[in-house]
Amino acid sequence: MKTFISFPEARDIVLDHLPGPHEDHIALDMALGKTLGRPIVAAENIPPFDNSAMDGFAVRAQDVPAPGTCLPLAGEISAGCSDTPPLTPGACVRIMTGAPLPDGANAVLPIEVAEAHPTENSVTFLKAAIPGNHVRPAGQDMPRGHTVLEAGKVLGSADIAVLASLGQVQVPITRPPGVSIVTTGNELIEPSEPLRPGKIRNANGLALAAQIATAGGQLYGQFHAPDTREAVRNALEAARGGNMLVISGGVSVGEYDFVKDVLEDMGLSMLFWRVRQRPGKPLVFGLLGDIPVFGLPGNPVSSAVCFEAYVRPALAGMLGRQNVLPRLESAVLDKHIPKKRGLHHFVPGQAWWVDRTLTVAPAGPQGSHIVSSLARADGLIHLPELLEEAPAGMSVSFERLR
Ligand code: AMP
Ligand code: MG
Repeated sequence: MKTFISFPEARDIVLDHLPGPHEDHIALDMALGKTLGRPIVAAENIPPFDNSAMDGFAVRAQDVPAPGTCLPLAGEISAGCSDTPPLTPGACVRIMTGAPLPDGANAVLPIEVAEAHPTENSVTFLKAAIPGNHVRPAGQDMPRGHTVLEAGKVLGSADIAVLASLGQVQVPITRPPGVSIVTTGNELIEPSEPLRPGKIRNANGLALAAQIATAGGQLYGQFHAPDTREAVRNALEAARGGNMLVISGGVSVGEYDFVKDVLEDMGLSMLFWRVRQRPGKPLVFGLLGDIPVFGLPGNPVSSAVCFEAYVRPALAGMLGRQNVLPRLESAVLDKHIPKKRGLHHFVPGQAWWVDRTLTVAPAGPQGSHIVSSLARADGLIHLPELLEEAPAGMSVSFERLR
């Protein structure tokens, strides 16, 4: 077991010890935000047929070689038409956006460059036709046989449009890992309860559940244990049925911090305890069988930050996502931040643009118990462990929070 390791090393250990994704299928109308389990190959051409990009007139381009050409009008094709006769040479047909191009036609002249003569049943064109103009060829968007979506993509609304266009109503996804939450602490009462002397409300249970939901996980169960070995053991045993275990509190060096001991009694292979970071130094990580287990420090900011730094990337890895690590933006510090050399600092910060510079500053008073500053934050300012100080004007990395 390693101890007091760096943030990058700790995160690498986590990412190297994750079970792989499980494949599943889901109905398309439930697929938003899920991770694609396999690449999607177009089985059909989309668009399925050549069609008009404009309301106008379909012609053979060679029949309208110059402005001023007049052609007889041979009919009309609207969107959805299924039996379009071929275009008679030397004639034109009125055509609507999305309507199939008749055989023989190879260009569309928009209504804006045409003058219809209803009595003569003819049309004069103010422009010459150019082959292919305003025609959307079959397969232009998604040619049959091409990969249109890569495995590991988190599905957004445009991906839903792609899948719907292809008729892919059952979507191959990776199954959201079931995550159990165990909170610990004699001092904790339910958020619904009135405060009593010495008690505080359990903030982490619901906050972690919210983080799990936005990270693509599924809540397997919420458990709470007071600070006795037996209660902690019972809660952890009840919680170990999921694919991941996230524990809050009880991992430090206090007299009532039983989580590590109990986990080891249960057979945890502990991979590290304590990371050179602030907040969240007492973080524990290990494996119970193949279940990744995170023991997060109980202070609400520590719990939330450790989730972002380790648990969210771990869930992304278990989901087989393309991007496991958060995207970091370059920013400039607006205010000096007190820095302790030898610890990676995650500072809840606000971000705004000054001209073209992303500017960041701490989001209010800092402390691992000051969750209101985290709530005001747009993201986390990263100050790597080797930095001695963090003066105003310095370039830093900024990780946006969801
Ligand atoms: P611990 O990690 O158990 O030593 O707890 C560190 C601090 O976080 C203590 O002040 C606890 O009261 C507080 N704390 C622990 N768990 C929670 C929780 N679920 N919600 C809010 N605060 C907590
Ligand atoms: Mg505690």
